[in-house]
Amino acid sequence: MPDQSNINLISNLIKKEIESYENKIETSDVGSVVSIGDGIATIYGLDKAMYGELLLFKHGVYGMVMNLEEDSIGAVILGRDTEIYEGDEVKRTGRVVSVPVGDALLGRVVNALGQPLDGLGEIQNDGFMPIEAPAPAIMDRQPVNEPLETGIKAIDSMIPIGKGQRELIIGDRQTGKTAIAIDTIINQKGKDVICIYCAIGQKNSTIAQIVDKLKSFDALKYTVIVNASASESAPMLYVAPYAATTIAEYWEKKGKDVLVVYDDLSKHAVAYRALSLLLKRSPGREAYPGDIFYLHSRLLERACHLSAELGGGSITALPIVETQAGDISAYIPTNVISITDGQIFLKTELFNAGQRPAIDSGLSVSRVGSAAQIKAMKSVAASIKIELASYAELLDFSRFGSDLDQVTKNVLRHGAVLMEVLKQKQYSPLTMEDEIVDIFIAQNKLIDDIPIDKIHETLVSISLYIHNHMPEVYTDIKETRLLSDETKKKIQTAVNDVRTGMQR
Ligand code: ATP
Ligand code: MG
Repeated sequence: MPDQSNINLISNLIKKEIESYENKIETSDVGSVVSIGDGIATIYGLDKAMYGELLLFKHGVYGMVMNLEEDSIGAVILGRDTEIYEGDEVKRTGRVVSVPVGDALLGRVVNALGQPLDGLGEIQNDGFMPIEAPAPAIMDRQPVNEPLETGIKAIDSMIPIGKGQRELIIGDRQTGKTAIAIDTIINQKGKDVICIYCAIGQKNSTIAQIVDKLKSFDALKYTVIVNASASESAPMLYVAPYAATTIAEYWEKKGKDVLVVYDDLSKHAVAYRALSLLLKRSPGREAYPGDIFYLHSRLLERACHLSAELGGGSITALPIVETQAGDISAYIPTNVISITDGQIFLKTELFNAGQRPAIDSGLSVSRVGSAAQIKAMKSVAASIKIELASYAELLDFSRFGSDLDQVTKNVLRHGAVLMEVLKQKQYSPLTMEDEIVDIFIAQNKLIDDIPIDKIHETLVSISLYIHNHMPEVYTDIKETRLLSDETKKKIQTAVNDVRTGMQR
């Protein structure tokens, strides 16, 4: 039997515990930094903090809760961590990390928290939205049925992209990945599509060049640049694509079409790996944390075509992934390939051989875009991929001997012409009508006998001729979205006229 004094002691202790327990609840909105370094803070005393919550450190520096442990939390610092010390006070804000949204962002360069980087003053935003949002449910979506015109012949014909689609651009370093994305943005001029270019881990000088280029093509006014450059901390790189998607969702919910480019997700994955390791999460394959797949799937699942009841807006996602020596079976590439609706694969060998854009037609696919392709394009482009495949096969074969039959020679000839027709300079996106006419001419073998180095010149002359003498060819395709027999005849006449003119 315990004596009375012992009982008193125990009850006193319990009372004290209960008191301090209540104290703990009251003070759990303010904690203190236990350790800080590499942009990661361990904080004691914030028992009620939520995952993803915004924390306020001294000097107005923000942080985000990433790890919830039994008696401490791990947070990443969004900004500079040099002025934060052990023992500093940390306050909860009660809200998750958010970014400003609204039309005032158009034409601006902002960081991952939506703060201006372009020195053009404050942004008069229409409020804030959290950077993480659930992806729209199945019933909130509708099939992709409108083309998103890239203005690049090879893509619009063989690997068409629809509004609301997620199409990966993948390839080694310096193969023209960014060029495709920027050309697509430039091509949206006058098409009522808002563009967001999210740069992750790029050089600031590269971004400055891109901003300049967009400005010179009058494309900046419908574009937002979200920049988390290589000089910023890993947490800012991690947050950037989610912030860009949230900025896009504001317009999507208003029924607008938005295009988002993530350049690139390999660097995003590397930043996430760095901060996961610093947060002492256990490493898995290639030292990436276990949730690396979820990292990108929850991002890209937010791109979709909303149902008519929800306004019919869309987010088209063009994530970019960099490969090493063309290895698309590495960890991050396979992850992102499996999340997206297709990929545009760029090859160094093609790029170096002057075939630009360096699209490998065999390994590139678009799983939903052809549903959105207009009839006129579908009718001329249907067989290009197969013809290029047999060309590539025969090309390898023909290297062994010169004794080829006429049929083989014709296939090789046509393939070479087709490859030449699909070449396109940077910053020169074409209208859908121009693309269709070019491909119609090539596919009907109207220029197969012209020397390869004269193909480009000939196409330009034909295009000029049609624009000057029969502009109804273009307007008809544009309005009806079909290639009528009459139009076909007119194009043939134009080709004949130009070619006889050239011979003279
Ligand atoms: P990185 O891996 O460095 O990000 P990237 O794959 O994004 O490179 P880009 O920067 O787009 O490649 O292009 C590499 C170079 O090739 C640039 O100098 C660009 O001007 C040039 N280039 C890209 N596309 C074309 C094209 N269609 N015609 C001619 N030059 C091109
Ligand atoms: Mg690039």
